[in-house]
Amino acid sequence: MTGRVTLVGAGPGDADLLTVRGLKTLQDADVIVADRLGARAVLEQLAASGIRLRADVIDVGKLPGYHRVPQEAINELLVELAQTGKHVVRLKGGDPFVFGRGREEQQFCEEHGIPVEVVPGVTSAISVPAVAGIPLTHRGVATSFTVLTGHDQIEAGGVLSLSKGDHTVVLLMGVNTLGHSAHVLAAGARGVDCPVAIVEDGYGENQRVTVGSLGTIAGIAAARQVRNPAVIVVGDVVRLSPHAVGVLSAPAGHWTDAFLADPPLSPL
Ligand code: SAH
Repeated sequence: MTGRVTLVGAGPGDADLLTVRGLKTLQDADVIVADRLGARAVLEQLAASGIRLRADVIDVGKLPGYHRVPQEAINELLVELAQTGKHVVRLKGGDPFVFGRGREEQQFCEEHGIPVEVVPGVTSAISVPAVAGIPLTHRGVATSFTVLTGHDQIEAGGVLSLSKGDHTVVLLMGVNTLGHSAHVLAAGARGVDCPVAIVEDGYGENQRVTVGSLGTIAGIAAARQVRNPAVIVVGDVVRLSPHAVGVLSAPAGHWTDAFLADPPLSPL
């Protein structure tokens, strides 16, 4: 009998941000094929909180620039495991369909006759800025946002909306190409003073927020040795973060006296 595969989004690395359906699916799994980022941390936290999963766990963790198991081998593994009749859960960081190659894995399985369900996850693109008190849209500040990877070379004028000041740009996998991205974005209507925040290891032990502007952020990030995983947010919404207090000027009328008198150190 052919088994099946479920792609589950693990969220940004905090087991509390796994969906209820995601947890139920993990409990039903015979085997879990897990990524490093987000997914492993969630499995470890579930175990530490006494939630036992009967599934075997296969770690296919990826590090930036170092793919422990090539994508093709992961695809083959999912098919082979499902062909033995198992319920295979493919646990991926964040949401499987946001720069996660989730649809590729789903298509490969379906081409081999394996049914695949998808359980969405909380994407780091939105949840990691939130941990630093940064909304991607905010009335009067930003009405839209774009999520890009640093691997995509941002081209000046390539995407018109990227240069508009009321549009938030979120960069995933963007630490290594930060200097280039900041340079190109500063060349648009935003200018060098446009605020930037980098949130490293969101929800993790090494969570850290670095705030600067398009003109300064590459130098600050180098001095602070900013590392992956990190989400980079570019736009005026960064001014709304408690981490911007004293670093950037607030957008007019957005900080009340009460807010300034009691800035939350841990914003959530
Ligand atoms: N599918 C994932 C994204 C995969 S790309 C999602 O929806 O979140 C991997 C990138 O996501 C990392 O390089 C980093 O930019 C970002 N990322 C994922 N988890 C993160 C975390 N806990 N803290 C900071 N960045 C994170």
